This record gives sequence, structure tokens and C-alpha cells, in this order.
Amino acid sequence: GDIRENHRDAIEEATQDLTVDHWIDGESVASANGERFETSDPAIDEPIVDVAQGTESEIDDAVEAAEAALRSWKETTPRERDDIIREWTSTLRDHLDELALLESLDTGKPLAYARDEAKEAFNYLEYYVSVAQAHEGSELPVGPDNHAYVRQEPFGVAGQILPWNYPLQLFGWKAGAALAAGNVVVLKPSEESPMTATRVAQLSKGILPDGVLNIVNGFGEEAGQPLTNHDAIDKLSFTGSVPVGKQVMSAAAEGIKPVTLELGGKSPFVVFPDADLEQAAETSAAGIFYNTGQSCDACTRILVHEDAHDEFLDLYLEEATETWQPGDPLEDGTTMGPLTFDDQYEKVSNYVEIGEEEGANLVVGGGDPDGEEFEDGWFFEPTVFDDVDNDMRIAQEEIFGPVQSIITFSSYEEAIEIANGVSYGLAAGVATNDASIAHHAAADILAGSVWVNEYHGDGPGVPFGGFKESGIGRECAKETLDEYTQSKTVNLKL
Ligand code: NAD
Repeated sequence: GDIRENHRDAIEEATQDLTVDHWIDGESVASANGERFETSDPAIDEPIVDVAQGTESEIDDAVEAAEAALRSWKETTPRERDDIIREWTSTLRDHLDELALLESLDTGKPLAYARDEAKEAFNYLEYYVSVAQAHEGSELPVGPDNHAYVRQEPFGVAGQILPWNYPLQLFGWKAGAALAAGNVVVLKPSEESPMTATRVAQLSKGILPDGVLNIVNGFGEEAGQPLTNHDAIDKLSFTGSVPVGKQVMSAAAEGIKPVTLELGGKSPFVVFPDADLEQAAETSAAGIFYNTGQSCDACTRILVHEDAHDEFLDLYLEEATETWQPGDPLEDGTTMGPLTFDDQYEKVSNYVEIGEEEGANLVVGGGDPDGEEFEDGWFFEPTVFDDVDNDMRIAQEEIFGPVQSIITFSSYEEAIEIANGVSYGLAAGVATNDASIAHHAAADILAGSVWVNEYHGDGPGVPFGGFKESGIGRECAKETLDEYTQSKTVNLKL
């Protein structure tokens, strides 16, 4: 059908009973000053719904509600929290269709992927409460007349800030860990994709005690900054760009607050000459083009051995032109939706110009896909630059779009040097059938995750986070609970 009609109908259906306000102390509330902003559907560039635009005043209210709720929430046992969170996820699963549609409309991602990611979010919420039950303190050996033990206590009020690319999944990663460990939460979704985190909080009504989970919508400087600066916030967790991550870390330094940062990446995918090139092309194409290149861990530099280059490039171009093609996110079988908003489209287009000016060889894509259905939205073709030098800006800077850089190497040492020759260290891929090369490369590449003969493999229990400027801390795993608790040593004379 016609993309505009499809989307207008879907927007009408999705928003008929929807209010996207703040969620404070178990209630939907608008801003004190009445301000609102629009969130829009990037496939047709039309508004979806207006959203409460928060300021310091709403942050103060949310933190106050959270502090009040903390008194009883931190006394709940992990077992009790497990019951509560599972009741909530069961409600969320009943609303899967609704949440997936909101997510797809807000971000532009294909509906089928939005469904998968929503399920993943619920899995993380359940995962964290199950491991929280095994997150124990310990007894210490201090002699016959003394007794010492360690309690694991929540920090208190966690301030969490989300980016726009995986709103629901990252909500599960962050809020799930904080709540499971006995913290209360004030969370600010991205202004570009605020609908699902707000809706998920609304669906906690009557299940989570009021004030345990609070959402304040709004922009970075107006609402995000007061959250990071608030005295009563005990722990900060931020996912987003490096420049804003630095500001969040400064705010944390000011208040001596622990901070988890999940920042950007420029992840390499290294294709050794013995690799299964078909599999390497398939996984490294999915590794960037999934979510239209808007993944922090996208593999955006392919390092291919000179002997494998020509054959690999042919296979890669096949992936880029056949498997990954823009389409209506609401249609079955679509693999690539539009970029999520206008500025992102400008940014990606601009990097294509930069790449051409720098002398890289644009071999496919580079702009808008053909077709009347793509005219209004922020669609962008899978784009591949060959003959890229690792010093070029397109190889050094995070583009956050479907723009691949192919770089050739001639030795193992050179591959590792190029792989590590960026300021980031979030993830990496290695394609080889030689176990020795695989293990050496996994050890030599500076990144928080290294995938061998696959890409993007993760799940509840698998730590995720960055080396270098890609961040501090690990999410998704047992150790995440350590980042949401502090130990207290209790010493007794017997
Ligand atoms: P961004 O840094 O522009 O914004 C992230 C969030 O911070 C938004 O909610 C924004 O409103 C808020 N913000 C902006 N300025 C602020 C300030 N001064 N104080 C407090 N909050 C402020 O990032 P983005 O464009 O939303 O997301 C894209 C970035 O996120 C990319 O760099 C991507 O790699 C990264 N990312 C990382 C991960 C990861 O797990 N490592 C996951 C997803 C995205």
C-alpha cells in the first residue's frame, strides 16, 4: 500500500489512547510550564504525538518521589522484587504489539525488529532480578572474637539517560539492573524516541510501587543536565555520545557519584585471508546495516587482507544491494527503515561528501534510494567506501548511519594496528578459521566485545561495554549488579 496512508493509519491506531507525559510517583503528569514537543515518524516525516517537555522542576519532583519510594523499596528482598518485576513483564508481554508499533513508528526501525528488541528488553528485566537473588554479600575471616560481614546495598536513586537508537532495549538494560539491585530510578528517554519508555512505565501502574520508577521527558540541556547535577542522585548511568558522556562524567565528579558510560564506537571487522568470505560478508553487512547503521557497536570499518579483498568486495556489494535495502518499516520483510530523524540524515549525507573529498572510493549507495515512497522520509541507501585509509575522518569518526569503510591490510600486525587505531574500543569482529589467529586477535584488539565468525551476538548474562573512549562499566551481566550496589562492611566484637 501507500506508505503515507499506511503510516497515518498506524499512527492513528497507536495514539488514540496514548498520552506521553512524564511519569512521576505513579502518575502521568504534564510539565509545570505546560511546554510540549513533537516526536515524529521518520518514514514519512509527520508528527506522531506531542510529549511533555520537562525542566529542572519535573526532575526535582521525580527525584523527590524516588527518594520517598526508596525507603521501602530498598527493604524488599530480591525474591520480592523478582515477583514484582515478573508481574510487570507479563503485562508488558501482553502489550507487545502495541509497544513494538510505537517503537517502530518512533525510530523508523522495521516492526519485526522492534518486536524482537521488545522481547529482548523483557528478557533483560527478568534476567537481572533472577541474578539479583544470587548477588550475595560475604563473611570475612577476622578471628575468634570478631565477626565481620559484607552487605551489598543499593546506591539509592539512580539517574539514567537513554539515547534514541534502541529505546526499549536500553530501558531494559538500565532500569532492569537498577531496580533489581534495589535502587529507585529517574530516567530520561531521548527526545527523539520517547514513547516506549514512557509507555512501559505507565504499564507498571499498580505493580511497581509508586515512585520506584519515574520518567522525565525532554531535551538534554533542559532535563538531562539537571538530572546529572541533582544532589540527591546517587548513581548515574548514561548511554549516548562521547561529548555528552564527558559532561555527564564531569557532573558525576562534581558530586563524587559513580557513573556508568556506554558511548560510541568505530568498531573494526577484520577479515583474514583464510576466512569463509561469504560468511564474513554476510555477518559484517548485518553488523552495520541492521538498524540502518545506528548501533553503537556497528562494525563500521572492514579491514580485509589484500589477498581476499576483491572476492570479499564482490560478496559485500551483493549483501549491500540485495539483502539490505530500504523499505517501509511496517511492511513484512523490510530489513532497513529510514534514519531516525532529520539531523541524523544531514549528518550521514555530510559524511558521504567528506569521504569523497578525502579520496575514498564510493562503490555503492551514497544517498536517497530511488522510489516515490522514499521521498518524504529520512531513508538512506547502504553505502560502501573502498580504498579507505584509517586516517580519514570517515574511518575515525562515528557516522551512525549505513556507511561502510573498507580498508586493506597486508599483515597480522598491520591489521591489529589499524583495528586499534581509533579513540573508541566498543566491539570488534574477526573472521578466520584459524583458531590461533582468532585467539590472538581477540586478545590483541582493544574492545569490550570481540565476536569471532559472528557479529552482534549478545544476550542477558553477556557483559557489554567499552574500552577507551567507548565507556566505563559493563551492562547486561552479573557484574552490572556490582555497579548498582555498594558494599558495606559490618564489624562486630563478639
Ligand atoms: P546524545 O549523547 O546526543 O544523547 C543521549 C542522551 O543524552 C539523550 O537523552 C539526550 O537528551 C541527553 N543529553 C544531551 N545533552 C545532555 C546533557 N548536557 N546532559 C545530560 N543529558 C544530555 O546521543 P544520541 O545521539 O542520543 O545517541 C547516539 C550515541 O549513543 C552514539 O554515539 C552511540 O554510539 C551511542 N550509543 C551507545 C550505546 C552503548 O551501549 N555503548 C548504545 C546506544 C547508543
